[in-house]
Amino acid sequence: MNQVDTIVLGAGISGLTAAHYLNKKGLNFLLIEATNRPGGVIHTKNIGNYRIEQGPNSIMLNEDVQALINEIDIADKVLTAPGVEENRYIYFKGKLALAKPGFELLKSRLLTFKSIIAFLKEPFQKPSIQDDESIAEFFIRRLNKEILDNLINPMVSGIYAGDPAKLSLRSTFKKLYSMEKEYGSLIKAAIKKRKEKRFKRILTSFQGGLSTFTQGLADQFTNKTWFGTRVNSVTSKGEGYNVTLTRNNENITLKCRRVISTISASTVAEVFTELDESAISSLKNIYYAPMLLLYLAYNKKDIPFSPDGFGFLIPQKEKMPFLGAIWNSALFPQVAPQNQLLNTVFVGGTNNLDVIDNAEEQAEIAGKSFARVMGAPEIPVFKHYYLKKRAIPQFHVGYYKVQEAIDVFEQYNPGLYISGNWRSGVAIGDCVSYNKKLINNNL
Ligand SMILES: Cc1cc2nc3c(=O)[nH]c(=O)nc-3n(C[C@H](O)[C@H](O)[C@H](O)COP(=O)(O)OP(=O)(O)OC[C@H]3O[C@@H](n4cnc5c(N)ncnc54)[C@H](O)[C@@H]3O)c2cc1C
Repeated sequence: MNQVDTIVLGAGISGLTAAHYLNKKGLNFLLIEATNRPGGVIHTKNIGNYRIEQGPNSIMLNEDVQALINEIDIADKVLTAPGVEENRYIYFKGKLALAKPGFELLKSRLLTFKSIIAFLKEPFQKPSIQDDESIAEFFIRRLNKEILDNLINPMVSGIYAGDPAKLSLRSTFKKLYSMEKEYGSLIKAAIKKRKEKRFKRILTSFQGGLSTFTQGLADQFTNKTWFGTRVNSVTSKGEGYNVTLTRNNENITLKCRRVISTISASTVAEVFTELDESAISSLKNIYYAPMLLLYLAYNKKDIPFSPDGFGFLIPQKEKMPFLGAIWNSALFPQVAPQNQLLNTVFVGGTNNLDVIDNAEEQAEIAGKSFARVMGAPEIPVFKHYYLKKRAIPQFHVGYYKVQEAIDVFEQYNPGLYISGNWRSGVAIGDCVSYNKKLINNNL
């Protein structure tokens, strides 16, 4: 039996961040990854002259991501989209409407006068006394249904591909939850906080795509990483843990003092057999929304306008066969030939499970619909799609109880840390911040 100090499970952005800070502290560790590459869902692919992202398209920088970029010395590879990224559109009643945050939004055709009144009344609405509620309940209670339907619903689709009537406010929009708890109102909180110095959150990618970031992290500790190795079980053993793995068709058991897991919730339920039964069943029940990513390119001359922003999102009540789209090469021109516009169209989510079994057909329907919105020809110059059957974990109302059960498991098992996007929040920035703090505060 071999001995190692800390074993990190999974080399997505969560596991890579944890390994980076272990490495920086000079601690002894081994990173275990089932596939043959680092990055997890972050996966850039080059197909001919097109660079596509099979997972996230960009990162919204926070201070921890910025620090990580500097620490691995890839700041010279950063790509930003100044002047373009803030233009975000919503497809509304058959046309694209600009949805710039702030006062301009009140003037947009997305909101009627009754919503302006709802904003004025918001500071006087009583805070909730419930432990948790859905995103839909929160916005209807504090503002109104029009704001929920026209602004919040498309935003939730863009981040979670999920349903605001099911998703927990407390576990998804944590800041809004605490703003209401602390200040009694979102507007009062925004006024109080307006003078706080805030990090400028910039939309970022890299030369070579997002995999440049994850590969840059992984390259630092290739000699401490086992790719193509699957963890089967983690059990307590005296003051440490036994980790059983399959590597090159061989079963191995390693003994270690600490385990940091960043694998998915359902895999944790299988691997950590000492979790109690109710926790195992809660983890198995965390639903992951499916997502079909459809990549379409057109000659710019065939599109009757010049896309000047991030892309657009679609409210559910518009009943369109896709959730929204990113105008990739408007943000980062490097990803396609200069005379073309490359787009990623998002299809699926919790309201269109058909993508799981009928990907080809759904891609066809969504592609035609996207072309109509853009005024583009029905046949693109480039088309490709990628289906991720289990893409984004859904934090439904009451999800905080699942988190609490895992907190208790960690307390009873010193040296065991359960991380991953279903613990930290799904944004890459959240994954980085959670794992940096985990290592720096505990080890
Ligand atoms: C389509 C899509 C678009 C997204 N868009 C954005 C975006 O634009 N911006 C943003 O901030 N976020 C976005 N996200 C969310 C974000 O990308 C993810 O939340 C984040 O990358 C998850 O990282 P992770 O390391 O926690 O998990 P993962 O990336 O899933 O990594 C887990 C790793 O564990 C490995 N593993 C699993 N089981 C085992 C096992 N038994 N043994 C060993 N290894 C195992 C897996 O192979 C994987 O490499 C998007 C996600 C998706 C799916």
